[in-house]
Amino acid sequence: MSVKTGFDLKLFRNIGIAAHIDAGKTTTTERILYYTGRIHKIGEVHEGAATMDWMEQERERGITITAAVTTANWKHSGTGIEHRINIIDTPGHVDFTIEVERSMRVLDGAVAVFDASQGVEPQSETVWRQADKYRVPRIAFANKMDKTGADLWLVVNTMKERLGARPVVMQLPIGREDTFKGIVDVLRQKAYIYGNDLGTDIKVVEIPEELKAQAAEYYEKLVEAAADYDENIMMKFLEGEKPTEEELVRAIRKGTIAMEIFPVFLGSALKNKGVQLLLDGVVDYLPSPLDIPPIRGKTENGEEVERPADPNGPLAALAFKIMADPYVGRLTFVRVYSGTLRSGSYVQNTTKGKKERVARLLQMHANHREEVEELRAGELGAVVGLKETITGDSLVGDGDEAIILESIEVPEPVIDLAIEPKTKADQDKLGVALARLGEEDLTFRVSTDPETGQTIISGMGELHLEIIVDRLKREFKVDANVGKPQVAYRETITRPVDVEGKFVRQSGGRGQYGHVKIKAEPLGRGSGFEFVNAIVGGVIPREYIPAVQ
Ligand code: GDP
Repeated sequence: MSVKTGFDLKLFRNIGIAAHIDAGKTTTTERILYYTGRIHKIGEVHEGAATMDWMEQERERGITITAAVTTANWKHSGTGIEHRINIIDTPGHVDFTIEVERSMRVLDGAVAVFDASQGVEPQSETVWRQADKYRVPRIAFANKMDKTGADLWLVVNTMKERLGARPVVMQLPIGREDTFKGIVDVLRQKAYIYGNDLGTDIKVVEIPEELKAQAAEYYEKLVEAAADYDENIMMKFLEGEKPTEEELVRAIRKGTIAMEIFPVFLGSALKNKGVQLLLDGVVDYLPSPLDIPPIRGKTENGEEVERPADPNGPLAALAFKIMADPYVGRLTFVRVYSGTLRSGSYVQNTTKGKKERVARLLQMHANHREEVEELRAGELGAVVGLKETITGDSLVGDGDEAIILESIEVPEPVIDLAIEPKTKADQDKLGVALARLGEEDLTFRVSTDPETGQTIISGMGELHLEIIVDRLKREFKVDANVGKPQVAYRETITRPVDVEGKFVRQSGGRGQYGHVKIKAEPLGRGSGFEFVNAIVGGVIPREYIPAVQ
């Protein structure tokens, strides 16, 4: 069935959930998908059909490395207006910085999840800096408020100290650690009490007596922050008049989109507290595709052009993820920045200089996929049918001016390993599989060492390459061994060789490696030996060589 999405672009939020491993990104994402109505049972993400974590091994390892996008809808609890939220999966592991970068590139805003018992940790800092680099506005979620040691102020203070950010406290906790049972909405000056851990019993109540003074203090601070973005607010406040809720939201939204302030929300994803309010926060404060600067690109003459988010403008889309799909084959995830991408149309891949056909367009929901006829400026989805396009490539309309969009910076791999199939017969299969993986993941490279003939795989860290080996086994059915690469080693030495030309072994010397080959030219005769000028060439493990540059 083909359906049009039909949402007004200002109702779109393309967001990432950025967190370092263990802060609760998976749980928060799972709850978001649950509350947006697309997953029917909590725990489905972990136990049943995969949604964000598409690959088995990711779940086993508890890390998320793919950057797929999941489409959900959320009705704001205050306004009742339905919004479309595209969740772009961002990995939390530092080994996969390219994956983080490519997702940062295509999202408009992010929720930074922190473990409230830890505050800002070194790895959360890495993710934060990346979001800074890509100018991604953020709201913060102090998760795990139910945990021993959880403390909102730890998060707020470490955001200031370690991130140099200006947090705006939007909520206060009611109860702490295992008695955490509710949330004060500072802006709206009301409170929510959770009757259970299932998120099914939520009561809107007056702010509890003991929190009234604190709620008033933080209301004032919030108004102060908002006043920086709307002069009327401060005037009203000074005259003893309350700014309206809409005025405050608008002003905080402005400051957040400018990346000058960072609204802080709190809750416990695991105990189903605070996730709905966080979703309202996403709608209230994170930008729509119309709020972000237009994508830039270059024409063939090197001229800089901008493409604003206009569905009627020329098509400009960026491929940000390639995935092999068991049902439809190759999926190319794209973000459309300008114009409209239509199913059945032809596009130019300007990076490759190739024309390609868009066979079908899909949008992935938590537990189903939807075929759509078009993806308009600001939308994300998956294209079926593109054969040559890889991550980072620009797509424009057939016949449109051939511009190349600002793309994704690909860092150089930092680690090399030699790889060989466990069974020699798998050599060709290994080659094909590695080539496929290299297409999907730009930081993964495959080469052959001309000296040793070994196949070398390069990546962003040990874990990265471990996952590649795992995928070879699972997805391509190739068992492989990896190890430190050998290095070709050559040295010209003068050594005695016996008459048959065999190297005379010297204990402790390099000559003891049996597979060292010798090309010898006689120099003269000694007693029983022939002295040769020997070029010792061979392949020996790197660690046996004292100083190879
Ligand atoms: P990720 O690595 O960031 O995706 O984190 P997960 O969502 O997998 O969570 C890591 C661990 O923290 C898991 O054991 C979760 O059950 C736990 N966790 C997640 N959210 C909460 C929470 O709100 N409270 C508590 N106490 N634990 C949580």
